[in-house]
Amino acid sequence: MQRLQGRVAVITGAGSGIGLATARRFAEEGAHVVCVDLDEPSGSSAAAEVGGLFVKADVTSESDVIRMYQTAFDTYGSVDIAFNNAGISPPDDDSILETGLDAWRRVQEVNLTSVYLCCKYAIPYMQRQGKGSIINTASFVAVMGSATSQISYTASKGGVLAMSRELGVQFAREGIRVNALCPGPVNTPLLRELFAKDPERAQRRLVHIPVGRFAEASEIAAAVAFLASDDASFITGSEFLVDGGISGA
Ligand code: NAD
Repeated sequence: MQRLQGRVAVITGAGSGIGLATARRFAEEGAHVVCVDLDEPSGSSAAAEVGGLFVKADVTSESDVIRMYQTAFDTYGSVDIAFNNAGISPPDDDSILETGLDAWRRVQEVNLTSVYLCCKYAIPYMQRQGKGSIINTASFVAVMGSATSQISYTASKGGVLAMSRELGVQFAREGIRVNALCPGPVNTPLLRELFAKDPERAQRRLVHIPVGRFAEASEIAAAVAFLASDDASFITGSEFLVDGGISGA
């Protein structure tokens, strides 16, 4: 399928997991892919693999975010798709009684403020084109909470969801669609690290997934490619769940 032929897509967190799988999928569908990551080896290897461009950037830095879109525009002439996906999981116990203010702030900064910055600086390019698709990575926990006590993470993803709805509604008449992607647990380094620290947590999670397994990153990428494409032309401001049935159980 070549639904994204010639479109310019900027993907944050493209060096690993969901971002990497989406870079591959976008390239297969004909897009010019700009792979953004803080981690140079993985980001540049992703870009080389998909024949795209690597931009080393920290998505919490306003000047870096401005520069990554400018680089995409200077190289390919437009910014059609922004997949704002980079995110972190809290390093330690993230229950409200244990999470310190610094850890809380760091998670909001990387997971939520970054999305604010990435939307703020992508939208003007899309306004000039009269068209664009923004997909922000939230999580199923934003919709239903988490039985595994992740207060700063869940709150950050709830913010991403609310912001995506707000922007989807606000910019709909300008041809810019904004959707929140809400994956269930996905087999990526982020999840594997979390579960390596707490194997029981993995088991608890698995029990609650109706399809009985974690998602592969390529299954999430397929949904992102759909949302990015004109096949999703009537979908904006949505919470797009790709969660193996968790939220319905
Ligand atoms: P991952 O750890 O495999 O990849 C995240 C990438 O983001 C890494 O390459 C990392 O270097 C990059 N990154 C981190 N901080 C950055 C920064 N400040 N600037 C630029 N790049 C940065 O993670 P993943 O599992 O692919 O997760 C991707 C997104 O999906 C995250 O927002 C995560 O919260 C969300 N998510 C993941 C799951 C899951 O189960 N894996 C479920 C729901 C939502």
